[in-house]
Amino acid sequence: MDFELSEEQIMFRDQIRNFAETEIAPLVDEAEEKEVTPLQLFPMMGKLGYLGITYAEKYGGAEVDKITECILIEELNKVCAGIAGVVSTTHSGLGTRAINDYGTEEQKQRFLVPAIKGEKIAAFALTEADAGSDAIALRTRAVKDGDDYIINGSKMFISNGTFCDFVPVACYTTDPKEVKKRGQGISLIVVEKGMPGFSATKLKKSGNRSHETAQLYFEDVRVPKENLIGEEGKGLAQILTTLKSGRISYGARATGMAQAAYDLAFKYAHEREQFGKQIAKFQINTVKLVDMAMHIDIMRIMTYRAAWMYSEGMNCMKEACMLKIYATEKVQELMLLALDLHGGYGYMREYAIERLWRDAKMLNLTEGTTPINYMAAARELGI
Ligand SMILES: Cc1cc2nc3c(=O)[nH]c(=O)nc-3n(C[C@H](O)[C@H](O)[C@H](O)COP(=O)(O)OP(=O)(O)OC[C@H]3O[C@@H](n4cnc5c(N)ncnc54)[C@H](O)[C@@H]3O)c2cc1C
Repeated sequence: MDFELSEEQIMFRDQIRNFAETEIAPLVDEAEEKEVTPLQLFPMMGKLGYLGITYAEKYGGAEVDKITECILIEELNKVCAGIAGVVSTTHSGLGTRAINDYGTEEQKQRFLVPAIKGEKIAAFALTEADAGSDAIALRTRAVKDGDDYIINGSKMFISNGTFCDFVPVACYTTDPKEVKKRGQGISLIVVEKGMPGFSATKLKKSGNRSHETAQLYFEDVRVPKENLIGEEGKGLAQILTTLKSGRISYGARATGMAQAAYDLAFKYAHEREQFGKQIAKFQINTVKLVDMAMHIDIMRIMTYRAAWMYSEGMNCMKEACMLKIYATEKVQELMLLALDLHGGYGYMREYAIERLWRDAKMLNLTEGTTPINYMAAARELGI
């Protein structure tokens, strides 16, 4: 067993860390304040090869393993969870995964290649107003009409929905009355920006404000049959594959955010003095810092193990679910510890810990809430 990162991974980590600190960090305050995603990052990151890094070289990817992708996700989340969510988990993950894994060569040329270059932006639309955790209760419907599908319905809470160039949309292509088993008859169909009848409205959020989120509407949207991903009616498997990879990415997100919180708390606790000494030196605060460091270590190891299993093609659904539960719940506690160490200042918006604390809340609400991941892990354990 080897716990060391390779030389390439260390070099890559240093490069992406430098990029995040020099190119992303200066954009964060304005993007968060105005609640607008800095889209200029897409072509910039595309040129540097930081988008879709796990995809094949022939499509412009770097064909790296999932651990390397987790390194990138961790570094981006240390600087800004909102922007990290836009470019890594949504665009390079959710929005393009099914096209990469199940799409035709023509779809890969049309969507994946420009996405990796940062010329087209992806989103992923599964959730609906009345179908959240129970996603297969979705009602969006695609009906065949000659060589096209006509899509009607709406989607809720869609990351990148306001500006995406394309979005795989989960919809029933089979009449729900004819569906014998729940989840059968769902397909992923790619809807493109500008298609008549497709619109979006922006939602206002508590955290991750630089990560635009939207409600999408489809009113008689005509989509060519060439935009169907994989086989008609087999979308559920595509969605599950997409979410499995996403759960591991969330381990990396939580690790990055917790690390950033620890770094801030460590620095502050050594600068701030009360009762004539650094607050870090009061035993109760020392314990808080050690606890944080220890749990970050566990998160990172769990993330790398699940990522390694994923890249080796092993069944890692159990590990991915347990990682998602552990990391996204533990990060909530760690954010509170870090904020508490900042005292009243931590509650002020000019202190970075305040944003991190708000941003982290999203992690156990999205890509499967904690109860849903418990249910999935229980299935894997045969309970
Ligand atoms: C900021 C943000 C970005 C998002 N981005 C996307 C995106 O890009 N694409 C997309 O498709 N979706 C996206 N989502 C949707 C997200 O995945 C859903 O919000 C999530 O799946 C939960 O669904 P819900 O909000 O409807 O909650 P509900 O499913 O209504 O759950 C409410 C509560 O009930 C609990 N619950 C539900 N069922 C059970 C059960 N069987 N047993 C025990 N407890 C249960 C839940 O855990 C939760 O605590 C995003 C959401 C947010 C907030």
